[in-house]
Amino acid sequence: MRKQSFFFSFFLFSLLLTFFLHWSCRPTARWYDTSLLFFDTICDLKIYGSRDQFALAVDEVRKTFARAERFFSPQANDYQSPEVRELFRRAKIIYFDSEGAFDLTVGLLSDIWGFRSKRYRVPEKDEIKRALTYIGMDKIQERGGQLIVPNGVILDWGAIAKGWAIDQAFQALKNIGIDRGFINAGGDLICWGKNPDNQAWRIGIKHPRESGFLGVLEIADLAVATSGDYQRYFEIKGVRYHHIFNPKTGFPARGRQSVTVIGPQATICDALATAVFVLDDPGELLKKYPEYGAIIVDDHGSLISAGKKFTFIPLK
Ligand code: AMP
Ligand code: MG
Repeated sequence: MRKQSFFFSFFLFSLLLTFFLHWSCRPTARWYDTSLLFFDTICDLKIYGSRDQFALAVDEVRKTFARAERFFSPQANDYQSPEVRELFRRAKIIYFDSEGAFDLTVGLLSDIWGFRSKRYRVPEKDEIKRALTYIGMDKIQERGGQLIVPNGVILDWGAIAKGWAIDQAFQALKNIGIDRGFINAGGDLICWGKNPDNQAWRIGIKHPRESGFLGVLEIADLAVATSGDYQRYFEIKGVRYHHIFNPKTGFPARGRQSVTVIGPQATICDALATAVFVLDDPGELLKKYPEYGAIIVDDHGSLISAGKKFTFIPLK
């Protein structure tokens, strides 16, 4: 009888111990976040998952962003990697769809206006005219598995590379089972699943002229990219010269202070934000991208929306 009760107690104890160990070692999911430095800007990562998933996620984002920097920095001249050729093809579609408003060959313009060396200047009219003869993505051919970039043509991936990096990082995180998260690379971002308050994500859009926000987007499972004349510019005699060029004129594009594009893919949002910034009427372009919408601030500071509508709460 005594022996029996001893075995029963031992059995009960083992059972409780097993339960306890199971609970205490179970990887608990919670929100984690960190900031990383890439693309000369601060990048934020926020995910819901276990500690191991978070460590893996940070590693994946670092690897992906470093790859994007290697392929698409101003110094990069790798024209045969599959990633480079694939992004070139996607960029060329947007080049045609935007009738040349988005153009990867604006590199020479960035160069002569001093945005590469940070020695800003307004080039002579002749210099701009000459530079325009090196602009146009149709000058680049794909042959024998590599891009053939003619002498003098400079590729500039600045309007699409961050979007690409965000999409790649997002895919990597989905593959390791992270189904709630947020990746922000200097204002271009993607968010998926519910936010930490179990609601849609609330994304503040920067005011192009003031320190606060223009308004707040309420979105889920979407990417957002903003192009603005306030991000990189110099002023001479009260005229603002910024970093987004109209490839037809060779001058910084006129008529916009900022453009935010919202849609499923960060790569497309990034490129479209730049294209819409350049175009006087983005209606035709956005018709070709029915899942995307734009919030535009024109040069008078008025708010215009184009394409698909998303929940946007203006703050004034
Ligand atoms: P974003 O902030 O995405 O609009 O990208 C701006 C960057 O893209 C600039 O700093 C240039 O490197 C490059 N860029 C400027 N104008 C254009 C254009 N029309 N098409 C494509 N890339 C451009
Ligand atoms: Mg862009």
